[in-house]
Amino acid sequence: MARRKKVYEGKAKILYEGPEPGTLVQYFKDDATAFNAEKKAVIDGKGVLNNRLSEFFMTGLAQVGVPTHFIRRLNMREQLIRSVEIIPLEVIVRNIAAGSLSKRLGIEEGTPLPRPIIEFCYKDDKLGDPLVAEEHIIAFGWASQQDLDDIVALALRVNDFMSGCMLAVGIKLVDFKIEVGRIWENDFPRLILADEISPDSCRLWDVETGKKLDKDVFRQDLGNLADAYTEVARRLGVLPTNSAPVTRPTLIN
Ligand code: UDP
Repeated sequence: MARRKKVYEGKAKILYEGPEPGTLVQYFKDDATAFNAEKKAVIDGKGVLNNRLSEFFMTGLAQVGVPTHFIRRLNMREQLIRSVEIIPLEVIVRNIAAGSLSKRLGIEEGTPLPRPIIEFCYKDDKLGDPLVAEEHIIAFGWASQQDLDDIVALALRVNDFMSGCMLAVGIKLVDFKIEVGRIWENDFPRLILADEISPDSCRLWDVETGKKLDKDVFRQDLGNLADAYTEVARRLGVLPTNSAPVTRPTLIN
């Protein structure tokens, strides 16, 4: 059913024109990809879970004063968001060594970092989202020094909020990725949190057992990805603890 004009289709989400100028509808697909889309699968219910979880985190962040693009959830798979100019960077915040940091620097996975570390990758699938330095970002005009200062402050606030949120339900926030967008208010630019925050873009480990509850379950074939995301949603109270699987729409909307 083609109701709206598609503006953009990514690996896990589709953006449609929104009902008002300056808005978009963000649709969460069930598609999972890893290793720059070399590994692909359709995971029943993943989109529904990520829509709910991203709503949960973005709403909480707004409540503590972090500006986000989220306006409201529309239905099981869609949310209304503000249209932004995306800064072409993946902003990664790390609390514990894992993934590419461990590989790159030879630091054993699971080693707590002395302080949160922020990294920037240039958003370009063809190049595999390479790690870049502030020098590159400023020299090539992807963001200004002031933007970077604002992005770092925003990323650290997201980290504090998310770490607390997750720890309260027995989960360690190992690392995560955010994207930031620019909006214009009365001719003044402002940077806000965009894209999504979900277990697709975080590493989440159970505090007690170390069990992975994020996309590494898919990357490393550790089990059922939807079960892991459902566990996160249930602990956070986003799904009732006794609800049936997310693929049964009537029980979760
Ligand atoms: N991440 C992401 N999208 C990307 C790359 C990374 O959401 O395109 C997230 C990833 O899920 C993890 C964090 O950013 O939570 C750090 O990822 P890392 O650099 O370790 O890359 P990976 O090992 O996933 O290739």
